Amino acid sequence: MKVGIIGVGAVGSATAFALVMRGVADEVVLIDSNQKKAEAEALDISHATTFAYASKIYAGNYTDLKNAQVVIITAGANQKPGETRIDLMARNTTILQSIIKPLVQNAPDAIIVMASNPVDIMTDLALKLSGLPKNRVFGSGTILDTSRFKTLLGEHLGLSSKSIHAYVLGEHGDSEVLIWSNGDAGTLSVEDLAKDLHRPLTPEVKAQIDDNVRNAAYKIIEGKGATYYGIAGGLCRICQAISANENAILTVSSFHEDVEGVKNVCVSLPSVINQNGVECVIYPHLSAEEHELLKISAQKMKDYSEQE
Ligand code: NAD
Repeated sequence: MKVGIIGVGAVGSATAFALVMRGVADEVVLIDSNQKKAEAEALDISHATTFAYASKIYAGNYTDLKNAQVVIITAGANQKPGETRIDLMARNTTILQSIIKPLVQNAPDAIIVMASNPVDIMTDLALKLSGLPKNRVFGSGTILDTSRFKTLLGEHLGLSSKSIHAYVLGEHGDSEVLIWSNGDAGTLSVEDLAKDLHRPLTPEVKAQIDDNVRNAAYKIIEGKGATYYGIAGGLCRICQAISANENAILTVSSFHEDVEGVKNVCVSLPSVINQNGVECVIYPHLSAEEHELLKISAQKMKDYSEQE
């Protein structure tokens, strides 16, 4: 599989590294407005291929995107301590506007995966600017938040996070919704399993997990300036699902005609990912409170998208 990455900063380079080390892409082209940085990252990562897979990785320009199956966009400003993802909107809108046209000209058949923040708004904008069908333009959305949720539930229950099915939906950001009403593992609901294991999900435990999911990025940025390994894992997982035509259920942000009565909005819902991109969306069963929270989250994204 050939993958293009536009924006080779912390997220772009970690993603390229993940793709190469896991053998998901056999050709990776790195594009950055800082050409020297793209060249240096390509060179550095190429030296790891001896220990992984025989992938070709190089710095290029837009014409090198020809025949890419996936192009990931990670270009743009990232959050500084105290900034929200929404605070990046104006800066990253301008950057995205300069990227989409040459991308689509050179890779008209590619699936575009947005990662730059605020990712739901950027996905909506990329869809509009590209004119591509909605299945082929989507964002990493809450794939990372879902992973954080599963990791924390796994730690609490003493189980592998891979054996837990639980989701974070809505905005990738402050209004995201952790779905407590229907997570499961080993045929039991997460709530029942937690009781059986004598590790109940008390209101205090839930509040702690919620805080650690919702505010993870703020905590990581406070400590080391940026988050990149988690999202790199998520972007690599998306590419793997596309490459293997997997029909994997992942929480990614795509365009929906109606989310809880909010029309034409990009947020994350459980989505089936295969070689066509988003093949279809599975509308979740939610509690009354979760319906309301998802509506609030979708409305927030809709309001910001209208300001683009
Ligand atoms: P970074 O500053 O390390 O890298 C950004 C890169 O984009 C830089 O190398 C810069 O030269 C490049 N760039 C800027 N304008 C460009 C243009 N017009 N064309 C090509 N390249 C351009 O930032 P980062 O930490 O890698 O974060 C990148 C984006 O990813 C941010 O918006 C950040 O908020 C977002 N992010 C998203 C998630 C997620 O879950 N979706 C997680 C972490 C970070």
